[in-house]
Amino acid sequence: HNGDERAALIPRYVRVNTSLGTLHEVVESFVSRGFVLSDPFSSKKGFSNDHHVPNLLLFPPNTTFHDDDLYTSGKIILQDKASCFPALVLDPPATEESVVMDATAAPGNKTSHLSALMKNKGKLYALERDGKRFQTLKMMLSKAGCTNVSPINADFLTVDPNDAQFSPVTHILLDPSCSGSGIVNRLDHLLEAETEDDASQEDRLDKLAAFQLMMIKHAMRFPNVKKIVYSTCSIHATENERVVRNALSSEEAQVGEFELAPQNEVLPTWPRRGYPEEMADALSLIRCLPGEDATNGFFVSCFVKRSQPMSKKR
Ligand code: SAM
Repeated sequence: HNGDERAALIPRYVRVNTSLGTLHEVVESFVSRGFVLSDPFSSKKGFSNDHHVPNLLLFPPNTTFHDDDLYTSGKIILQDKASCFPALVLDPPATEESVVMDATAAPGNKTSHLSALMKNKGKLYALERDGKRFQTLKMMLSKAGCTNVSPINADFLTVDPNDAQFSPVTHILLDPSCSGSGIVNRLDHLLEAETEDDASQEDRLDKLAAFQLMMIKHAMRFPNVKKIVYSTCSIHATENERVVRNALSSEEAQVGEFELAPQNEVLPTWPRRGYPEEMADALSLIRCLPGEDATNGFFVSCFVKRSQPMSKKR
């Protein structure tokens, strides 16, 4: 498939922002405007509920929402299905005592999803290094009514895990910069014409992977962290399974006693898993393939504190 054909296979996904409205209310609004709950691929006015992500609706691929009142008021968020997986897998607790961090937050789609899952309770720190993207993040969070979020313009790697403010963090979402090789759009065929040679691509991926690994290892240094979700919109094993493998064998993982969460805790109903030729625990990992899964290409992994202590060597 070329970019156009692949994009035509991906429905327009709309996530209902439950911080500002209910699924029922949003569905009613679409119905009142002539949309019909039916297959979005066979009717121009059809829309349906997603099978894996609660509060996610599917519309025909070319539907536009940028002028829609529900969009301008923040009640719906235009977010690809696969990019809804990380917050669902992190499953942050919704209590007044919750302390959660989105370490790489802008533009804030996943932050607003986390905030909604936390029912706007407790504290959600949203870090973003880039100044301009940080402004976008702040606007997005206020539009989406995320009242439990503290946006912070900072480099995650320079944050001290033992800082009094951040040491209580128990859940971290890490969705760092990546090659973006999974993103399907209509420019694909233009981009493909000017792809770099293999050696320079490999070099670029290796640099990204080294950065991604550093980010995971830093997350593992937080003294109270119990769960870390690492995701990318890359299709390359270099940025995905191989980064996870290196993170698991790092000193930080040994000291912090981290392992991969078992498959039954990582969206078990999603059939496409990690590449088994890359690692033994591949069933613990989620993959999405562009053109195959009606989503962009995506990868999700979840590290948790080991539940059973390692048996002591005698
Ligand atoms: N999770 C976001 C969402 O769903 O809307 C998308 C995140 S984007 C893939 C990665 C972001 O991480 C970029 O905005 C980038 O500027 C930021 N970033 C990269 N390195 C960072 C660091 N060391 N600390 C904080 N933010 C960082």
